[in-house]
Amino acid sequence: MPDPHGLHVPAVTLTAVQLLQSLLDQSKDYAFVLIDPDGRIVGWRGAAPTLFGYSEAEMLGRLIDDIFTSEDRALGLPSHERFVAAADSRSEDDRWHVRKDGTRIWMTGTVEKVVDHQDVLVGYSKVMRDRTDLRAHMEATENRLQALAHRQEATDVFFTRLVHELRNVLAPMSANLEFLRRCTEPQQTAAPVEALGRQMAVLVRVLDDVMDLASSHAGHLQLTWSQFDLAHELLSLERTLQQQAHRKQQLLQVLVPPGPVWLRADRERLHQIVVNLVSNALKYTPDGGAIWIKCTLEPKHVLIRVEDTGIGIAPDLLPTIFDLFTRVTTSGQGLGVGLTLVQDLVQAHGGTVEVRSSGVGKGSEFAVRLPLEGNERVARPEC
Ligand code: ADP
Repeated sequence: MPDPHGLHVPAVTLTAVQLLQSLLDQSKDYAFVLIDPDGRIVGWRGAAPTLFGYSEAEMLGRLIDDIFTSEDRALGLPSHERFVAAADSRSEDDRWHVRKDGTRIWMTGTVEKVVDHQDVLVGYSKVMRDRTDLRAHMEATENRLQALAHRQEATDVFFTRLVHELRNVLAPMSANLEFLRRCTEPQQTAAPVEALGRQMAVLVRVLDDVMDLASSHAGHLQLTWSQFDLAHELLSLERTLQQQAHRKQQLLQVLVPPGPVWLRADRERLHQIVVNLVSNALKYTPDGGAIWIKCTLEPKHVLIRVEDTGIGIAPDLLPTIFDLFTRVTTSGQGLGVGLTLVQDLVQAHGGTVEVRSSGVGKGSEFAVRLPLEGNERVARPEC
């Protein structure tokens, strides 16, 4: 007669031993392996044949070592497992094993010693369950944690550099302020006032870059679109940047097409892109070198190239140059955020930025390509 749940009820009730026997034969999840004191397999039951691909006949009499990985065998883990089980009654068994076809399977389980009625060791039982899925999860989580740890490390380095950078500027600022405080002759104040202005501008730029990058990464970068003449903007930027070039006896030249170059973009952000690239060019070009800002028109884009005759970039470093915190030089200058911000700003405009350099000492070229029509869809924050 069926029971209330519709299950078949056998006419004869099985004994516990018979039930155990059936479990050993039928388990789909658990592999039951019985091992003699020397590590030879004397029982290969439950899900063992399906999970490992070996039949019982193939495994009886073989050493348990055969399902261990070569690395674990080299470490002596098969006998160590039995040694621990013999000493502590049981040994945890969470490890990679090897199937007949050579693939690996992550098993969790235990090895327990088996003793006779006089407490003499007669063998071991090894009960295992396939948790390859769990292991894959664990590995993905471990990888994520590792990536986060790297990120954290990079952030720590970044903050150390930020403090260093700010100190570098604040120290001469305080010295200049102190000088001004003591100064009685007005004509003597011109130089420190100019120096203070320069140092303030560096401070403001560093902090602006850090703030903008933080908003960009948080997805809060806002662009204010307008139509303007790019050629005119570049020529007016040249006048500001020319002072920096003068100080290092560098040649700075802006080459634009004749007539206006109408562009739809965020004017302030465009300044930021160009100023960042040109400031780098000035910084990484020795005294007496040259920097060009070239603007050319393509059918649907405008191309702004910042070229310099500076220290150049090694080929293997080019692919990561736009990554956050990348710094190629060991001069201790810079934070490694400027180019990441440039890339973010260019992409927010629907454009691209590329770098080219023939190698160390051979100058660099950064090419920004922006759509002439603008691309406001790209920059709209997601709601
Ligand atoms: P930083 O504040 O360090 O200049 P950036 O993100 O602007 O940060 O630049 C990252 C790195 O790329 C710099 O540290 C420098 O090594 C390299 N770099 C950038 N521009 C140039 C250039 N024009 N010439 C050579 N190297 C450059």
